[in-house]
Amino acid sequence: MKHSNIPIFIPELACPHQCVFCNQAKISGQMSVPTPEEIPAIIDTYLSTMNDGREVEVAFFGGSFTGIPLDLQEHYLAEAHRYLREGRICGIRLSTRPDYINDGVLDLLKRYGVTTIELGAQSTNDDVLLASGRGHKADAIRRASERILENGFHLGLQMMIGLPHDTYERSRQTVEDIISLGADNTRIYPTLVIKGTQLAKRYESGHYVPLDLPTALSWAKDFYLRFEAAGVNVLRVGLHASEELTPERSLLAGPYHRSFKELMMTEIWADILAEKLNGYNHQDMILKVHPSQVNFVWGYAGKNKRFFEQKDLRVKLLTDDHLGKYEVQVGSC
Ligand code: SF4
Repeated sequence: MKHSNIPIFIPELACPHQCVFCNQAKISGQMSVPTPEEIPAIIDTYLSTMNDGREVEVAFFGGSFTGIPLDLQEHYLAEAHRYLREGRICGIRLSTRPDYINDGVLDLLKRYGVTTIELGAQSTNDDVLLASGRGHKADAIRRASERILENGFHLGLQMMIGLPHDTYERSRQTVEDIISLGADNTRIYPTLVIKGTQLAKRYESGHYVPLDLPTALSWAKDFYLRFEAAGVNVLRVGLHASEELTPERSLLAGPYHRSFKELMMTEIWADILAEKLNGYNHQDMILKVHPSQVNFVWGYAGKNKRFFEQKDLRVKLLTDDHLGKYEVQVGSC
């Protein structure tokens, strides 16, 4: 069944932390934060465009929801809970920091029908967490994850790749930890250098080098496939395209691309096609794939199409929804 989130951005104002990649001044100075009284209007507006029987969740995103004062959290949750009671939405989800989870918070979230808690884990490596100014160690992620699952919530654990002191092996271990901690969903975000951050200073003084785009895509590809194989739902790869993320505005450096996920899927299919079509040259052929994969088989900006051309393969692409996501049937015309 189709699923949609109604995103409500509640940045934690005056956050006491100093994550090196975060421009707090920008978050607190420029984002307009909806008041609890404005929540019903936001939900109603979205619901009016979503009345086709799909599953809808209200999602409090944008920072550390459980870091705002408890009475304010309760006020926001009460507004969303009304829609849950009336059966007009099927759940409430929110994102927060691992060290902002405690029994009092979990009781409150349970009372108001929160179904999924996403933690910004970012890394499970203590050295990376320290160098990134996260203000907690990996133990906090483990403890919070356990408490969330014990209390019957779904667990999401988001990760960032290319943080200071990160390596492929450390990120790969984070993936394995996210799986073994019992997350049922994740998001993979490449680290970007945003103007006005500690990371920007380090970058400008040569003390931080972001991942380049091909490396970030290659890491993301491996991690995405590993999560899929383990049954962890990857809700997002790469950041939302936004006007803010341009060199003219906030972006200083880093592996940003507005179609990051499409590029990654193109790479996944480039690998599959290279293996599957090894030895095929100079011929007409039919490839059958799942309908959801057609764009990725051709590739972003026709990248994989050029691969066919180089091998002089004249490919007719057909679809079959009985095929698996990465299955491909090769036939001749
Ligand atoms: S990313 Fe870090 S510094 Fe920025 S709002 Fe979240 S916890 Fe605070």
